[in-house]
Amino acid sequence: ISQIGDFPLHLKQNMKQMIIAIDGHSSTGKSTFAKAIARALDYTYLDSGALYRAVTLYALEEGLTDAQGKPDADRLVERLEDITLSFCRNPKTGNDETYLNGKNVEQRIRSLEVSRNVSPVSGIPGVRDFVDNELRKWAGKKGVVIDGRDIGTAVFPQAEVKIFMTAPAPVRARRRLEEMKAKGEEATFEEVLENVLRRDHLDSSREVHPLTKAPDAVLLDNGNMTVAQQMEWFKKLLEDKWDIRLK
Ligand code: C5P
Repeated sequence: ISQIGDFPLHLKQNMKQMIIAIDGHSSTGKSTFAKAIARALDYTYLDSGALYRAVTLYALEEGLTDAQGKPDADRLVERLEDITLSFCRNPKTGNDETYLNGKNVEQRIRSLEVSRNVSPVSGIPGVRDFVDNELRKWAGKKGVVIDGRDIGTAVFPQAEVKIFMTAPAPVRARRRLEEMKAKGEEATFEEVLENVLRRDHLDSSREVHPLTKAPDAVLLDNGNMTVAQQMEWFKKLLEDKWDIRLK
């Protein structure tokens, strides 16, 4: 199954089995969109970026980075077997939160410090294998929506639905800044914009599984779109391509 339009009959009859891969640039609202889709289809949502962020937090806390923040790849890869990652639903918000070795790290993995260090960590081949394994384990046979950078190209090239999201960098930086402010994190627009551009560059230029649009992914530029408009777009995509109608 590679081409949009080749939606096979057994999946039409059982939508539960789809894998929906949402890749794209930093801060394009992939997770918000992925969560909305997961709710609409009653699917499981997996946040692959959260796993890279949790490994980065571990490296920072365990002193596995040098003074410039460069990760010590060999030592970090050796220590990966000490890391247990999981998601657990917060009953108050209904959102799945990230746990690192049994501790809730959801807030800490979203800090600017982790954002600044995550791209070099995610460029380490051993770290990518580790995260890919976790994702494949959790995806199982259930319907899942997974967001990241290489889900449709490398982790699940067989995904039935692939969406590649982008938006102008200043729009993305403004959204990220608002999100951070709402959580009480201090940062300037310039700092956030710099981080967004830097991560785009590092993620797109790394050797292992760089950020790139899969040939069979559908492009979505959501610079001028609300989440509700994106859901309309998604419903139309399912209808037009596969004749699937959501309520
Ligand atoms: O999606 P999020 O911004 O939380 O991802 C954090 C970082 O993790 C990205 O900037 C990227 O370096 C890395 N990442 C990745 N591959 C993925 C998901 C995230 O390299 N599938």
